[in-house]
Amino acid sequence: MNLEPVSNDVYIRIRTELLVIGDSIITDRHHASNGNYQDDDPQNQIGGIIPAFPLSGWLRHGMESVLQQHDTTACHPGEANANFKRENIYERDLDAGYHEKGDCLDSTENGCLVFDLFGGFENRPGKFMRRPIQFSPVRSSVDYTRGQAEGHYRRLNRNVVSRNAEDNRQPLRNTELDAIANLDGSWQLTFRELKPAFLGLLAEAIEYLDTHQTEFSHQLGGARNFGAGIVDCELINPLYDNRELKRVFNRHQSPTEAMNEKDERWAEQFRPALQSAMEDRLRER
Ligand SMILES: [Zn+2]
Repeated sequence: MNLEPVSNDVYIRIRTELLVIGDSIITDRHHASNGNYQDDDPQNQIGGIIPAFPLSGWLRHGMESVLQQHDTTACHPGEANANFKRENIYERDLDAGYHEKGDCLDSTENGCLVFDLFGGFENRPGKFMRRPIQFSPVRSSVDYTRGQAEGHYRRLNRNVVSRNAEDNRQPLRNTELDAIANLDGSWQLTFRELKPAFLGLLAEAIEYLDTHQTEFSHQLGGARNFGAGIVDCELINPLYDNRELKRVFNRHQSPTEAMNEKDERWAEQFRPALQSAMEDRLRER
Protein backbone atom coordinates (compact mmCIF):
# COMPACT_ATOMS: atom_id res chain seq x y z
CA MET A 1 0.00 0.00 0.00
CA ASN A 2 1.04 3.59 -0.53
CA LEU A 3 2.01 5.20 2.76
CA GLU A 4 3.24 8.38 1.13
CA PRO A 5 0.76 10.83 2.72
CA VAL A 6 1.90 9.68 6.18
CA SER A 7 4.98 11.38 7.58
CA ASN A 8 7.52 9.61 9.76
CA ASP A 9 6.28 11.61 12.75
CA VAL A 10 3.17 10.11 14.28
CA TYR A 11 1.37 11.58 17.30
CA ILE A 12 -0.58 9.99 20.10
CA ARG A 13 -2.96 12.15 22.10
CA ILE A 14 -2.55 11.41 25.79
CA ARG A 15 -4.95 12.65 28.45
CA THR A 16 -4.83 11.75 32.12
CA GLU A 17 -6.03 13.37 35.33
CA LEU A 18 -3.05 12.25 37.35
CA LEU A 19 0.31 10.90 36.34
CA VAL A 20 3.06 9.81 38.71
CA ILE A 21 6.38 8.76 37.25
CA GLY A 22 8.06 8.24 40.64
CA ASP A 23 11.20 10.29 40.95
CA SER A 24 11.91 10.59 37.28
CA ILE A 25 9.87 13.63 36.25
CA ILE A 26 12.41 16.28 35.39
CA THR A 27 11.08 19.67 36.36
CA ASP A 28 12.32 23.16 35.68
CA ARG A 29 11.11 24.38 39.07
CA HIS A 30 14.45 25.98 39.84
CA HIS A 31 13.60 28.63 37.25
CA ALA A 32 10.62 29.64 39.32
CA SER A 33 12.32 29.57 42.66
CA ASN A 34 14.05 32.92 42.93
CA GLY A 35 14.90 32.00 46.49
CA ASN A 36 11.35 31.86 47.75
CA TYR A 37 9.95 28.87 45.96
CA GLN A 38 7.11 26.98 47.64
CA ASP A 39 6.18 23.51 46.47
CA ASP A 40 2.48 23.89 47.01
CA ASP A 41 1.95 27.41 45.73
CA PRO A 42 -0.62 27.19 42.93
CA GLN A 43 0.99 30.20 41.30
CA ASN A 44 4.06 28.16 40.42
CA GLN A 45 4.44 27.95 36.69
CA ILE A 46 6.43 24.77 36.64
CA GLY A 47 7.00 22.69 33.55
CA GLY A 48 9.18 19.72 32.90
CA ILE A 49 9.80 16.55 31.01
CA ILE A 50 8.19 13.12 31.20
CA PRO A 51 10.96 10.72 30.18
CA ALA A 52 10.24 8.33 27.34
CA PHE A 53 11.02 5.15 29.33
CA PRO A 54 7.69 4.70 31.16
CA LEU A 55 5.75 5.78 28.04
CA SER A 56 7.65 3.30 25.91
CA GLY A 57 7.08 0.45 28.38
CA TRP A 58 3.38 1.25 28.51
CA LEU A 59 3.08 1.21 24.72
CA ARG A 60 5.18 -1.92 24.40
CA HIS A 61 2.96 -3.77 26.81
CA GLY A 62 -0.08 -2.69 24.80
CA MET A 63 1.54 -4.01 21.63
CA GLU A 64 2.47 -7.29 23.30
CA SER A 65 -1.16 -7.71 24.31
CA VAL A 66 -2.30 -7.17 20.72
CA LEU A 67 0.11 -9.84 19.51
CA GLN A 68 -1.11 -12.23 22.17
CA GLN A 69 -4.71 -11.54 21.21
CA HIS A 70 -3.85 -12.65 17.70
CA ASP A 71 -2.59 -15.96 19.12
CA THR A 72 1.03 -15.18 18.59
CA THR A 73 3.81 -14.44 21.05
CA ALA A 74 5.99 -11.37 21.59
CA CYS A 75 9.63 -11.01 22.57
CA HIS A 76 10.07 -11.07 26.32
CA PRO A 77 11.27 -7.62 27.37
CA GLY A 78 14.07 -9.12 29.51
CA GLU A 79 17.27 -10.72 28.30
CA ALA A 80 17.04 -14.50 28.16
CA ASN A 81 20.41 -14.88 29.86
CA ALA A 82 19.63 -12.35 32.59
CA ASN A 83 19.92 -13.62 36.11
CA PHE A 84 16.23 -13.52 36.98
CA LYS A 85 15.64 -13.54 40.70
CA ARG A 86 12.67 -15.77 40.23
CA GLU A 87 13.25 -18.24 37.45
CA ASN A 88 9.66 -19.46 37.69
CA ILE A 89 8.27 -16.02 36.83
CA TYR A 90 10.25 -15.98 33.61
CA GLU A 91 8.99 -19.46 32.78
CA ARG A 92 5.47 -18.35 33.60
CA ASP A 93 5.82 -15.40 31.20
CA LEU A 94 6.99 -17.73 28.46
CA ASP A 95 3.83 -19.75 28.98
CA ALA A 96 1.69 -16.60 28.90
CA GLY A 97 2.40 -15.24 25.45
CA TYR A 98 6.11 -14.47 25.28
CA HIS A 99 9.07 -16.10 23.62
CA GLU A 100 12.67 -15.62 24.64
CA LYS A 101 13.95 -12.29 23.42
CA GLY A 102 15.39 -12.71 19.93
CA ASP A 103 14.14 -16.28 19.49
CA CYS A 104 11.95 -15.03 16.65
CA LEU A 105 15.10 -14.26 14.62
CA ASP A 106 15.58 -17.98 14.07
CA SER A 107 12.47 -18.26 11.93
CA THR A 108 12.08 -14.76 10.42
CA GLU A 109 14.53 -12.22 9.08
CA ASN A 110 13.25 -9.28 11.12
CA GLY A 111 11.90 -11.12 14.13
CA CYS A 112 8.47 -10.58 15.60
CA LEU A 113 6.83 -7.16 15.23
CA VAL A 114 7.74 -6.12 18.77
CA PHE A 115 11.37 -7.05 18.18
CA ASP A 116 11.44 -5.27 14.82
CA LEU A 117 10.03 -2.09 16.37
CA PHE A 118 11.92 -2.02 19.65
CA GLY A 119 15.16 -3.73 18.67
CA GLY A 120 17.64 -4.17 21.46
CA PHE A 121 19.29 -7.47 20.57
CA GLU A 122 22.46 -8.09 18.56
CA ASN A 123 22.87 -4.31 18.49
CA ARG A 124 19.82 -3.85 16.34
CA PRO A 125 18.26 -0.45 16.87
CA GLY A 126 14.49 -0.11 17.10
CA LYS A 127 12.62 1.25 14.12
CA PHE A 128 11.02 4.15 15.92
CA MET A 129 12.13 6.73 18.41
CA ARG A 130 9.93 7.30 21.45
CA ARG A 131 10.47 10.88 22.52
CA PRO A 132 10.00 12.36 25.97
CA ILE A 133 7.00 14.65 26.46
CA GLN A 134 7.73 18.19 27.47
CA PHE A 135 4.91 19.64 29.55
CA SER A 136 4.00 23.15 30.60
CA PRO A 137 1.11 24.65 32.56
CA VAL A 138 0.88 27.53 30.09
CA ARG A 139 -1.13 26.26 27.20
CA SER A 140 -0.19 29.04 24.83
CA SER A 141 3.43 27.93 25.02
CA VAL A 142 2.70 24.28 24.28
CA ASP A 143 3.74 23.14 20.81
CA TYR A 144 1.72 20.01 20.04
CA THR A 145 3.59 19.46 16.78
CA ARG A 146 6.74 18.86 18.82
CA GLY A 147 5.21 16.31 21.16
CA GLN A 148 4.40 18.64 24.00
CA ALA A 149 1.57 18.74 26.51
CA GLU A 150 -0.28 20.98 28.88
CA GLY A 151 0.25 19.62 32.37
CA HIS A 152 0.33 20.92 35.93
CA TYR A 153 3.13 19.90 38.19
CA ARG A 154 2.10 18.93 41.71
CA ARG A 155 4.08 17.85 44.69
CA LEU A 156 2.15 15.31 46.73
CA ASN A 157 3.02 14.78 50.37
CA ARG A 158 2.28 11.53 52.10
CA ASN A 159 2.70 10.89 55.75
CA VAL A 160 3.79 7.34 56.45
CA VAL A 161 2.61 6.39 59.94
CA SER A 162 3.41 3.49 62.19
CA ARG A 163 0.90 0.66 62.07
CA ASN A 164 1.73 -0.73 65.50
CA ALA A 165 -1.31 -0.13 67.69
CA GLU A 166 0.78 1.08 70.64
CA ASP A 167 2.43 3.76 68.51
CA ASN A 168 -0.81 5.69 68.05
CA ARG A 169 -0.19 6.37 64.37
CA GLN A 170 3.09 8.04 65.12
CA PRO A 171 4.47 9.60 61.93
CA LEU A 172 7.52 7.72 60.69
CA ARG A 173 8.49 9.74 57.69
CA ASN A 174 7.17 12.07 55.09
CA THR A 175 7.44 11.09 51.46
CA GLU A 176 7.10 13.45 48.58
CA LEU A 177 5.86 12.44 45.18
CA ASP A 178 6.20 14.30 41.90
CA ALA A 179 2.97 14.24 39.96
CA ILE A 180 1.41 15.88 36.94
CA ALA A 181 -2.26 16.78 37.05
CA ASN A 182 -4.59 17.23 34.07
CA LEU A 183 -2.16 16.27 31.38
CA ASP A 184 -3.33 16.76 27.80
CA GLY A 185 -0.99 16.69 24.89
CA SER A 186 0.73 14.80 22.15
CA TRP A 187 3.40 12.14 22.31
CA GLN A 188 5.62 12.17 19.27
CA LEU A 189 6.90 8.94 17.76
CA THR A 190 9.43 9.23 14.97
CA PHE A 191 9.79 6.24 12.68
CA ARG A 192 13.21 5.54 11.22
CA GLU A 193 11.47 3.18 8.86
CA LEU A 194 7.74 3.13 8.28
CA LYS A 195 6.16 -0.21 7.45
CA PRO A 196 2.38 -0.65 7.10
CA ALA A 197 2.49 -3.43 9.70
CA PHE A 198 4.10 -1.05 12.21
CA LEU A 199 1.34 1.52 11.82
CA GLY A 200 -1.28 -1.20 11.92
CA LEU A 201 0.08 -2.49 15.22
CA LEU A 202 0.40 1.01 16.64
CA ALA A 203 -3.21 1.88 15.80
CA GLU A 204 -4.42 -1.39 17.28
CA ALA A 205 -2.32 -1.07 20.44
CA ILE A 206 -3.46 2.49 21.17
CA GLU A 207 -7.07 1.42 20.80
CA TYR A 208 -6.40 -1.54 23.08
CA LEU A 209 -4.74 0.65 25.72
CA ASP A 210 -7.63 3.09 25.60
CA THR A 211 -10.26 0.41 26.17
CA HIS A 212 -8.18 -1.28 28.89
CA GLN A 213 -7.10 1.96 30.56
CA THR A 214 -8.32 1.06 34.05
CA GLU A 215 -6.58 -2.32 34.13
CA PHE A 216 -3.69 -2.22 36.54
CA SER A 217 -1.22 -3.63 34.03
CA HIS A 218 -2.12 -1.02 31.40
CA GLN A 219 -2.00 2.09 33.55
CA LEU A 220 0.98 4.36 33.05
CA GLY A 221 3.71 5.13 35.58
CA GLY A 222 3.64 4.69 39.34
CA ALA A 223 0.95 5.14 42.02
CA ARG A 224 -1.43 2.98 40.02
CA ASN A 225 -3.05 1.60 43.16
CA PHE A 226 -4.16 5.17 43.84
CA GLY A 227 -5.77 5.64 40.45
CA ALA A 228 -2.89 7.41 38.76
CA GLY A 229 -1.95 6.73 35.17
CA ILE A 230 -5.41 6.01 33.77
CA VAL A 231 -4.87 7.30 30.27
CA ASP A 232 -7.27 8.28 27.52
CA CYS A 233 -5.28 7.80 24.37
CA GLU A 234 -5.89 8.00 20.66
CA LEU A 235 -3.81 7.95 17.54
CA ILE A 236 -4.10 11.38 15.97
CA ASN A 237 -4.99 10.92 12.31
CA PRO A 238 -1.57 10.60 10.63
CA LEU A 239 -3.03 12.24 7.51
CA TYR A 240 -3.41 15.57 9.34
CA ASP A 241 -0.97 18.36 8.62
CA ASN A 242 0.51 20.42 11.47
CA ARG A 243 -2.21 23.03 11.39
CA GLU A 244 -4.86 20.34 11.72
CA LEU A 245 -2.92 18.63 14.47
CA LYS A 246 -2.97 21.84 16.53
CA ARG A 247 -6.66 22.23 15.91
CA VAL A 248 -7.30 18.89 17.65
CA PHE A 249 -6.23 20.53 20.91
CA ASN A 250 -8.14 23.76 20.46
CA ARG A 251 -11.29 23.59 22.51
CA HIS A 252 -12.82 26.50 20.67
CA GLN A 253 -12.54 25.03 17.20
CA SER A 254 -14.29 22.04 15.72
CA PRO A 255 -12.75 19.85 13.00
CA THR A 256 -12.71 21.33 9.53
CA GLU A 257 -14.36 19.78 6.51
CA ALA A 258 -10.91 18.69 5.30
CA MET A 259 -10.24 16.99 8.63
CA ASN A 260 -13.52 15.11 8.45
CA GLU A 261 -12.62 13.92 4.98
CA LYS A 262 -9.23 12.74 6.18
CA ASP A 263 -10.89 10.91 9.09
CA GLU A 264 -13.12 9.11 6.65
CA ARG A 265 -10.19 8.22 4.40
CA TRP A 266 -8.20 6.96 7.36
CA ALA A 267 -11.03 4.82 8.69
CA GLU A 268 -12.16 3.41 5.37
CA GLN A 269 -8.94 2.99 3.40
CA PHE A 270 -5.88 3.16 5.62
CA ARG A 271 -6.98 1.42 8.82
CA PRO A 272 -8.22 -1.79 7.15
CA ALA A 273 -5.17 -1.99 4.87
CA LEU A 274 -2.77 -1.42 7.77
CA GLN A 275 -4.64 -3.95 9.86
CA SER A 276 -4.32 -6.66 7.23
CA ALA A 277 -0.64 -5.77 6.70
CA MET A 278 -0.18 -6.40 10.43
CA GLU A 279 -2.11 -9.66 10.29
CA ASP A 280 -0.07 -10.88 7.30
CA ARG A 281 3.08 -10.15 9.23
CA LEU A 282 1.78 -12.00 12.30
CA ARG A 283 1.07 -15.07 10.17
CA GLU A 284 4.67 -15.16 8.93
CA ARG A 285 6.05 -17.19 11.73
ZN1 LIG B 1 10.36 -11.72 19.18
